[in-house]
Amino acid sequence: MENGGVGVDGFTGGMIMQQGYSYTYDDIILLPGYIDFPTEEVDLSTHLTKNITLRTPCVSSPMDTVTESQMAAAMALQGGIGIVHYNMRPEEQAYHVRRAKNLRLGFVPEPACLKPSDTIAQVDQIKLNRGFSSVLITENGQIGSKLLGIVTSRDTDFITDRFTELREVMSTDLVTASIDSSYEESLKVLISSKKSLLPIVRENGEVVELMCRTDAQAQQSYPPLGASSLDRDGKILVGAAIGTRESDKLRLRMLAEAGVNVVVLDSSQGDSIYQRQMLAFSKKAYPELDIIAGNVVTSYQARNLIEAGADALRVGMGSGSICTTQEVCAVGRGQATAVYKTASLAKQMNIPVIADGGIANSGHIVKALVLGASTVMMGSFLAGTTEAPGDYFYQNGQRLKKYRGMGSLEAMAKGSDTRYLGDKSRLKIAQGVSGAVADKGSVMKLIPYTMHAVRQGFQDLGVKTIAAAQDAVAQGRIELEVRTGAAQVEGGIHHLVSYEKKAF
Ligand code: 5GP
Repeated sequence: MENGGVGVDGFTGGMIMQQGYSYTYDDIILLPGYIDFPTEEVDLSTHLTKNITLRTPCVSSPMDTVTESQMAAAMALQGGIGIVHYNMRPEEQAYHVRRAKNLRLGFVPEPACLKPSDTIAQVDQIKLNRGFSSVLITENGQIGSKLLGIVTSRDTDFITDRFTELREVMSTDLVTASIDSSYEESLKVLISSKKSLLPIVRENGEVVELMCRTDAQAQQSYPPLGASSLDRDGKILVGAAIGTRESDKLRLRMLAEAGVNVVVLDSSQGDSIYQRQMLAFSKKAYPELDIIAGNVVTSYQARNLIEAGADALRVGMGSGSICTTQEVCAVGRGQATAVYKTASLAKQMNIPVIADGGIANSGHIVKALVLGASTVMMGSFLAGTTEAPGDYFYQNGQRLKKYRGMGSLEAMAKGSDTRYLGDKSRLKIAQGVSGAVADKGSVMKLIPYTMHAVRQGFQDLGVKTIAAAQDAVAQGRIELEVRTGAAQVEGGIHHLVSYEKKAF
């Protein structure tokens, strides 16, 4: 059965986007199509760049509260990709790229460690800051040093003198597994040991990782993983961001040596001579490396960067949840309009668009993809997960993690102001804020559930793939409407005395 027909009920994308309004995702609604297939038949595989394909259209943002090695690894393991931020020294960033490529699923790469002369009070502090109630005791108190013992809450809970040294309370009857064992082999040892922790050690007794009983149990409740995003060497795909300064050329070299698969040129307004020059340099120095340029929001900007050699475009200006650019600089665009306009042009030139910022729920992802994006980049949606950098803390009884804009004064103080062309001036103007988001659990659960919801959205529209959805919009078979303020209220939860909102 045919869908409604051009302009029969709603409006085509072209009609809606020609009205002179700057629409956000919430402003518009997609009209349903005809369903003749199950959700499982929806295939969300897509292009990140001209040369890189992904099974899952999700990218984690290069922000210092979102993507370091753990997030990058988790995103790739689920068929997406993470872009490691660059608010750190180049060698640290290269380390995160290397580390992400070598991380093993199911193992804690940086367990809490203390030395025998440390005290129970320090274990208490670790519990408060990092949520770990067990600590490995090593010769020098660091990971990579010889393992001497373990302290768990059972070793310390009845001791009133919290300044007791750990050497007096640590357990030394240790069961360990070798770094050469697979996940399954280590899990067998953990289960048969009946212990809560299994340190993974090198032959000389140095501890390198940890397997936890509770994590292993949680992992069994995660949805099946599916194929990871892998490069030609069978290692996971990892991206990294750089700026457009002279010093970023050295950063780029270190990232390339670390095996980075794709690089994002990170500017809040990317249509600049600086991005053109960096694109030209990168393409000459590393012709095999795909470069994502941006951010842009107009088709004019998009054309400029594509002609300068961009392999994908990052789209969004002022739509991020922590972002104040539109307020401070009066420049930007509603994200639905920005995605539609740039993608309409980029599609003709065969360049994928990444819809960056403003994703607050699975419906926004459906809208971004249907309006022309090939992938979505997310900051706040992924912040607060186990894999995001930073420690949890409690505020009014809620478990939170910090989430901050890279243009916030706090992040810029660490060096991220190059994104906002601010580091040459002594006057720093914030284009973002610093805040906190709720604990969202692991992305290993969040992404699969979210993608299932996106598949349901595609099923409702009667399309099985991202390409089919975008064709249907171009041909007017998927129709849109603008929602009035009241329609948006109606489309949300309303008129209840109380409710509990659980996504899955
Ligand atoms: P979110 O997913 O939280 O809505 O948006 C994340 C995106 O906001 C990032 O990928 C980046 O493009 C943008 N962004 C990150 N930090 C800042 C900031 O401080 N100011 C502005 N203007 N944009 C930011």
